[in-house]
Amino acid sequence: MNFIDFRSDTVTKPSEEMLKAMFSAEVGDDVFNEDPTINLLQEKAALLFGMEASLFCASGTQTNQIAINVHVQPGGEVICNQESHVYKYEGGGIAKNSGASVRLIEGNRGRITAEKISEWLNPDDVHYPVTQLISIEDTSNRGGGAIYDFEEIKRIKKYCVEHNLPLHLDGARLFNSLVETGIDYKKYASQFDSISICLSKGLGTPVGSLLLGKTDFIKKARRVRKVMGGGMRQAGFLAAAGIFALDNNISRLKIDHQNAKKLEETLLYLTWIKEVIPVETNIVVAILNNSSKRDIIINHLAENGIKCMAFGPGMIRFVTHLDISANDISKTIEVLKKIQI
Ligand SMILES: *Cc1c(COP(=O)(O)O)cnc(C)c1O
Repeated sequence: MNFIDFRSDTVTKPSEEMLKAMFSAEVGDDVFNEDPTINLLQEKAALLFGMEASLFCASGTQTNQIAINVHVQPGGEVICNQESHVYKYEGGGIAKNSGASVRLIEGNRGRITAEKISEWLNPDDVHYPVTQLISIEDTSNRGGGAIYDFEEIKRIKKYCVEHNLPLHLDGARLFNSLVETGIDYKKYASQFDSISICLSKGLGTPVGSLLLGKTDFIKKARRVRKVMGGGMRQAGFLAAAGIFALDNNISRLKIDHQNAKKLEETLLYLTWIKEVIPVETNIVVAILNNSSKRDIIINHLAENGIKCMAFGPGMIRFVTHLDISANDISKTIEVLKKIQI
């Protein structure tokens, strides 16, 4: 069966045009800095965000973990939201790769505030780990694709500057945020010491993420990437997909957001749904009236050609992306409306 797959925006397959760009890429050995297509992608991304440099990596987990490793010493502490990907979904990487501890703080749909951060900055006292990094996520995955308030980001940045702390952004879905807010890329990026963006989510490449930062930061990151076994050779074939995605697949994210809204509108009126986390971008999280029915519903949808994901007790997540058409949304709505529970 040809499924309509809402499990994640990572399930997209490269289009014909993207594949063509990949096949015709000029490549070289990137460990020697000799892959022209990777170099071009890295320059392009750095320019787009007004950052000094960038580094092409295998995944968003890798870019986040490398950034944390460069910013934080063993025994240091990272402050982030309790739902953040860097903590929850990266296999304990902060402890394993960097030997650092984590201070998890509460937030609103995955977003933390400067005020909350200030409550948890450790004092200069031998009892405490030294707070060495603040990490935030935009959009927030666990927050149902919630967009950060840029004014709050500026307050967080100000606090970080005052306390000499670097600020990292897990921007796996940063483009989803920026196409909605319209905030200038460079203005936005100037608030961060490092930024991770994913090319293999809404932008539709098969592989790849980019880490952005200052030249000396990226130089260190390159060393960490190599140590982690992430030095790739003729990966320009993959970088070509990234270039294609940056050129063609950003503004169309709006379509994914409209599709997510359509799903939300339907879900809101279904009797078996208690609540839908208000849709801001391409993630729709539905909370069921009867949480014990979650897997029955997921299985029923699968039998009708629709894949979605369990997202915690009584919660189902749908993610829209470039392989979901308007027609797929209509079909899904029909199936959803017929569910009797
Ligand atoms: C997907 C995602 C990542 C990176 O995941 P990879 O699968 O390692 O590329 C990082 N942060 C967030 C918020 C994500 O949703």
